[in-house]
Amino acid sequence: MPYRLSRLAPRSERPKEECGVFGILAHPEAVRLTYFGLYALQHRGQESAGIAWNDGHAVRVEKGMGLVSDVFSEDQVTTMHGSSAIGHVRYSTTGSSSLANASPLLVRSRRGSLAIAHNGNLTNALRLRRELEDEGTIFQTSLDTEVVAHLIARHSARQAHGGSALSLPQLADAVAGALRQVQGGYAFVFLGEQGLIGARDPYGIRPLSLGWAPRDSRSEGGYNMVGGPHGAWVLASESCAFDAAGATFVRDVAPGELVAIDRNGVFSLQVEQAGPSSLCIFEYVYFARPDSNMQGANVHVARKNLGRLLAREAPVEADLVTGVPDSSLSAAAGYAEEAGIPYEMGLIKNRYIGRTFIQPDPGSRRLGVRLKLNALRQVVEGRRVVLVDDSLVRGNTSRHIVGLLREAGAKEVHLRISSPPYRHPCYYGIDTSAPSELLATRAGVESIRDMVGADSLHFLSLEGMLQAVEEAHREAIGAAGEKDRPVASADPLHRGYCLACFTGRYPVPLEQANQGKYSLERYEEERV
Ligand code: AMP
Ligand code: SF4
Repeated sequence: MPYRLSRLAPRSERPKEECGVFGILAHPEAVRLTYFGLYALQHRGQESAGIAWNDGHAVRVEKGMGLVSDVFSEDQVTTMHGSSAIGHVRYSTTGSSSLANASPLLVRSRRGSLAIAHNGNLTNALRLRRELEDEGTIFQTSLDTEVVAHLIARHSARQAHGGSALSLPQLADAVAGALRQVQGGYAFVFLGEQGLIGARDPYGIRPLSLGWAPRDSRSEGGYNMVGGPHGAWVLASESCAFDAAGATFVRDVAPGELVAIDRNGVFSLQVEQAGPSSLCIFEYVYFARPDSNMQGANVHVARKNLGRLLAREAPVEADLVTGVPDSSLSAAAGYAEEAGIPYEMGLIKNRYIGRTFIQPDPGSRRLGVRLKLNALRQVVEGRRVVLVDDSLVRGNTSRHIVGLLREAGAKEVHLRISSPPYRHPCYYGIDTSAPSELLATRAGVESIRDMVGADSLHFLSLEGMLQAVEEAHREAIGAAGEKDRPVASADPLHRGYCLACFTGRYPVPLEQANQGKYSLERYEEERV
């Protein structure tokens, strides 16, 4: 049956962000720290939030639609007692926006309960789902996370006979078995009665790090510690969540690695041979928080370098540099420093409105941009402004902001984008919709400049972007005093990063059936 595009169109208008995952084992305040961790990861997803925790008997879950602060109150969190927990913030990539699809997903069987939180997309999920359905599996949600849950259940059945509970190594084996069947870019955290498990895709596209939360001396007297003698293990999408939870970064989970954690420590299993390392470069450009470190490199430092390189590639005579808050401020600071032009606060953000992309339709998104940002007339009037933004996807944001600056009296607006033209959809966790909606696929730089109404426009080159991020790594290595930090195998063209949305070269094979038609809504349409 042909797709009913009318139903699909509004959804495809919306680029989607990723999700954020967090997990902690063996801490008397596991739930509270997970709550703090989710606050720190809120920028990765604002559609729903959830926490699953082990109350000593079973794994339980609380989740809801909206921000962490909408779903949980401090009082409520104090009633959720447990020494291990995982949490998730979501902005749907596959699966529609509904409470049923909020995470963590909790599945119960005779072998125990298992909560799953997932960041990323599985590129063969539809095929696996069809196969499972053909064999009689019933799905409750449209999440590809549920595909993994069913695969784990099958592998678990092979591990333990007669319905007995699985040990942590058995559970880890079952998870590994499931992960060997899936493809894509992913980071998972799992919580069972046995312990905590984290896993990352073989290319390391989606980030996941391991941290350590030292035991808080205040809690020592009041709680019966179940974990290590000095603290607790933590897993998180970004290191800023460690800071929020009072933890410190230990190391990244390696591509293709599974870590299984219980009170005896961390056990590592290489589930699949690591492919060429391909961390999503867009984490540095836009997604991650500036105070996070990814693969050792600080995101703010990387963004400042992006701005510096941009200034070298595209200098312009101007009176001030301003950045689109918040994700472009670091790059704007770098541009200003390199160009020797004063950095100014030309745009003010209303902090009480979520990201523009939350707005469901173009009309309200346009209004959303206006509510969210205002130009500072006193700063920009009569001046030549360099406007730095981190990316240009459909061009709407740039057009609005250039318009705002002009209305506020800017004499010239020179738009500088601290990444190359975004031309290819992402299949690894960021649903940037159909290629036709990506402005750079159908327009050259000059027509984009014309459409957004800027006096000049320049996109950072691919080489410039790679150099900027590599430089941040070198700085990090220098700062840590490390001389021979091992560098993961990387293909020479992509130099250790996924660059697919800029180059069209996808590190993980895409199944033909899923290309561009990735959402489950489409699958359901197809089935009607
Ligand atoms: P656009 O209006 O489509 O050109 O969007 C570009 C703006 O949205 C930039 O200012 C980015 O900061 C932000 N952005 C880029 N990619 C995404 C994404 N996948 N999800 C949400 N926001 C994004
Ligand atoms: Fe990141 Fe782009 Fe690769 Fe998607 S395609 S994982 S956004 S670099």
